[in-house]
Amino acid sequence: MEGTEKALPLVFRGDEVLLRREGAGTERLPREEDLTPLRGLLHPHPQEDRDGWREMDPGAPLPEGWRGADLRSLWAVLGEEAFFRAGRAFHLRHWSRTVRFCGRCGTPLADHPAERARVCPACGELHYPLVSPAILVSVVREGRLLLARGHHFPPGRYSVLAGFVEPGESLEETVHREVREEVGLEVTGVRYVASQPWPFPHSLMVGFEATWTGGEIRLQEEEIADAGWYAPEDLPEIPPSVSLSRRLIDRFLARHGTAPR
Ligand SMILES: [Zn+2]
Repeated sequence: MEGTEKALPLVFRGDEVLLRREGAGTERLPREEDLTPLRGLLHPHPQEDRDGWREMDPGAPLPEGWRGADLRSLWAVLGEEAFFRAGRAFHLRHWSRTVRFCGRCGTPLADHPAERARVCPACGELHYPLVSPAILVSVVREGRLLLARGHHFPPGRYSVLAGFVEPGESLEETVHREVREEVGLEVTGVRYVASQPWPFPHSLMVGFEATWTGGEIRLQEEEIADAGWYAPEDLPEIPPSVSLSRRLIDRFLARHGTAPR
């Protein structure tokens, strides 16, 4: 990836990404020339050259024609490629801000000269960016899809089940455990579908399909507010198209005779 792509001139202001307004309601990421008037407000960043982002003081007022936005809300504005490239910067930026001292001996870390890592000058421990794998799984029972609501979901929104991989587990074992824990069901035929980085702040989503083989829905109430089996023509509100969970739901719809919405 490195070296072959022109860096996106991303500007972060606190946790927001700056957008440039163009005419009637159109917004885009800045181009290099847009940054000239901001120059005095941008801080150099140790990783700027490698990853192509700048920092603006979160307390500095925004000049006319700029807006700060939560990256998660910018899928439609940025398009898929720019969204995930900006996400990569977001992920690395979070890492560079949170992994600053050696977890083993407490010494301040230095950037590794060659790898994307930090190294402890005292004990030599290497610290790589954290990536946390999590599974998503669409479970089908006789033409109906299992959808559930977490307590933190937007009102009315349902999605496929999800959960973080635990130490010592294979991804398939995580699928079986999460389905059992969250809704009390058994599944079979667990098949990998696709993966997607979700760098808020450091997840990697791994999508699976599976078939119900036993049990009736029994909610794990601390995690799941509601769950049910849904026919293709009768789905509740589902996640937007940026997400891998939506791709899994769209695959279910394509297979069961209803075009993706
Ligand atoms: Zn150390």
